[in-house]
Amino acid sequence: MRAEIIAVGSELLLGQIMNTNAKFISSRLAEVGIDVYYHTVVGDNPARLEEVISIAKKRANILIFTGGLGPTKDDLTKETIARQIGSTLVSDDEALLYITQYFKRTGRDMTENNKKQALVFEGAKVLPNRTGMAPGMAVEKEGIHYILLPGPPHEMEPMFTNEATPYLFEALGTQEVITSRVLKFYGIGEAELEFRIQDLLEKQTNPSIAPLATAGAVTLRITAKASSVEVANQLIDPVEKEIKSLVGEFIYGMDEDTLSSKAADLLQQNNFTLAAAESLTAGLFMAELADEPGISSSLSGGIVVYNNDMKVSQLSVDPGLLAEHGAVSAECAEVLAVNVKHKFGTSIGVGITGAAGPDPHDGEPVGTVWISIAMPNAKPKTHKLALSGSRNTNRLRSARFALYYLIKYLTENESKN
Ligand code: ATP
Repeated sequence: MRAEIIAVGSELLLGQIMNTNAKFISSRLAEVGIDVYYHTVVGDNPARLEEVISIAKKRANILIFTGGLGPTKDDLTKETIARQIGSTLVSDDEALLYITQYFKRTGRDMTENNKKQALVFEGAKVLPNRTGMAPGMAVEKEGIHYILLPGPPHEMEPMFTNEATPYLFEALGTQEVITSRVLKFYGIGEAELEFRIQDLLEKQTNPSIAPLATAGAVTLRITAKASSVEVANQLIDPVEKEIKSLVGEFIYGMDEDTLSSKAADLLQQNNFTLAAAESLTAGLFMAELADEPGISSSLSGGIVVYNNDMKVSQLSVDPGLLAEHGAVSAECAEVLAVNVKHKFGTSIGVGITGAAGPDPHDGEPVGTVWISIAMPNAKPKTHKLALSGSRNTNRLRSARFALYYLIKYLTENESKN
C-alpha cells in the first residue's frame, strides 16, 4: 500500500498556514507501516486538483485529502473528486441532522449552503465529524482508496485516528489493533532525548517509538500492533520501562497530560495549597496553573514582586541579601518561596526570579533564572536555569520549568507516603 497526502487550500500555497495535516497523517501512517511516497499541496482550483488526482492515481493506491469540505464556494474537494471518479453526491441524513442540531444548539441560523456539508459520495463510508460539522468519507474506486478529511486540524486529527484508521485497517484486511502510549517530557531537547535512547530507536520494530517535538515540549509515542489491546499493551510495557530507566527523570506525564494539568492533579490529590512569588514571570506561572478547571482548591494566590522594593516591602526580602547576592540569585528565590508560603498560609511556596533579557540583570547574564520550591516540612529546593531564548520565550520557559519541578517534588512526595 502506498499513500499520497493531498492538502487542498490556497492559503497553504500563499504561505499563510503550514501543512501540519500532512505531517500528522504521515507520522501516523508510518507507525502502522503504510508508506507515504508523496505530499502534494494544491490550491482551491478544480482543474489543478483534477490534475493532481490524475497523477496521484498512477503512483499511490491510498489518496488522503484534507481541506475543502466546508460550506463556502471555494470548498470544492468533494465535487472535483466526484467528477474524477464518476461518483454522485447524495445528502447523508445523519450528517444533515447533526449539522442542523449543531446550528440549533449554538443558536445560529443555518444558511442553505451549510446543507452542502452533508453531501457525500453515494456508497461511501461516512466518517462522522465529532469536533466540527463537515463529515469526512472513504470510498474505493478501481483499487484506489479515496479518504476525504476536513482541513482544521482539531477536526481532522480525531477523525483520522478514530474513523479513517479503522477504515484503512479493514481495507488492508488486517485484524490487528493499534495502541499507542505517549510519554511527555520536559527539560530535555529532542536531539538529546533521541541520543539517549538511540539504541532503542535503532532496534525498534513493534512497538515503534516516534519522537515528536512541539512548542517547548517533547513527546515519545510508543505504538504497538497486535491481535488485541491487551497484547499490544504487553508489548508496550517493557519498552516504556526501558525508556523510563534511561530518561525517566524528564518524564512528567502521559497521553493527554500537560504540565499544568499534571501539576493541578497532583496538588488536588494531595490536598496541597500553593502560593507563588513571581519576579521575571510576572504571573505566568500562576496563569498556566489557572488554565486548569477546579484549581481554586489548590492555587490560593500569589504576588508579582517585579522590582527590589516590592520584594522587600511585600515579601520581607532582606535588603542586605539583595545587596550581597542580587535579585537573580538562589538566595532570593528561596526567600521568595518560603515567605510567600508563610504569607499566604499554604502548604507549598514557589519563588521565581531571573534575567529575562534583553539586558543582563544585577550582573547576571540573560537567561539566568532561579526557581525555588518550598514543599511542606522540607527545606526549599532550588534550581538554576541557563536559558538561551528571547525575552518572552525565557519567561514562558521559566514558568513551565517551575511547573516541571513542582511535578517532580509532588511525585517524590507521593512516593514517600
Ligand atoms: P471548513 O469547514 O472550516 O471550511 P474545510 O474542510 O473546508 O473546513 P479548509 O476551508 O480547506 O477546510 O480549511 C479550513 C482551515 O483549516 C484553514 O483555514 C486552516 O486553518 C486549516 N487547515 C486547512 N488545511 C490545513 C493543512 N493542510 N494543515 C494545517 N491546517 C490546515
